[in-house]
Amino acid sequence: LLSLEGATIRFGGRPVLDAVDLDVAEHEIVCVLGPSGSGKSTLLRAVAGLQSLDAGRVVLGGRDQAGVAAHKRGVGLMFQDHQLFPQRDVGGNVAFGLRMHGAPKGRQALEVGELLELVGLPGAERRAVAELSGGEQQRVALARALAPRPSLLMLDEPLGQLDRSLRERLVVELRELFGELGTTVLAVTHDQGEAFALADRVVVMREGRIAQSGTPLEVWQRPADEFVARFLGFDN
Ligand code: ATP
Ligand code: MG
Repeated sequence: LLSLEGATIRFGGRPVLDAVDLDVAEHEIVCVLGPSGSGKSTLLRAVAGLQSLDAGRVVLGGRDQAGVAAHKRGVGLMFQDHQLFPQRDVGGNVAFGLRMHGAPKGRQALEVGELLELVGLPGAERRAVAELSGGEQQRVALARALAPRPSLLMLDEPLGQLDRSLRERLVVELRELFGELGTTVLAVTHDQGEAFALADRVVVMREGRIAQSGTPLEVWQRPADEFVARFLGFDN
């Protein structure tokens, strides 16, 4: 579904994405791990069309995305700081997701009520965003990102603000939800427990490059190098 080929982005001469090759298959859930500043968010922004490449290609569904505007790419992106509209209620926020991109051809868009049920907030349409807990707000942001049923859903630290027990519960729910909807997911997290629980495949980034890509078990059992091993918390 998605291929990055030699994707490179430089800021002030420094490569933040350094010739990244990455393939994501349809229905696959890929989690990107890596230290702060390793280029995880930049990778998602490049795929979403919010950041242009200095070299290389982003190919979605077989089509090179060079020159294709963000809203025409059919991908959903939930930002690291989720960026809800505080002046709109929950329903208004989710409806915005529906309006922003039409549903892809041949797929029926989900309705606001349905989306809120999916993320475990049934009947929350009229609630004020400001009165929701951090976890509830993240669920609303997720519903908004899911609304147009993007072929590729990208999540940047989707559970970032939540405590561990809520994260653990939501990860299980999310995996089920993505399976039901047949959504392909590229998610960034710095929490390896979360990545290992959610992902079919884990990608570890280091300084703009992919240090390792493999199933959670492969990465866990055979870290590619010392960096990955250290990052996973093995001391030697
Ligand atoms: P975190 O885990 O902290 O979110 P990250 O892996 O998502 O980190 P990025 O946000 O992709 O990291 O940033 C990678 C590097 O690129 C950082 O050093 C950052 O300062 C730099 N960077 C990102 N966006 C810009 C920009 N618009 N201009 C200049 N430098 C940038
Ligand atoms: Mg980031």
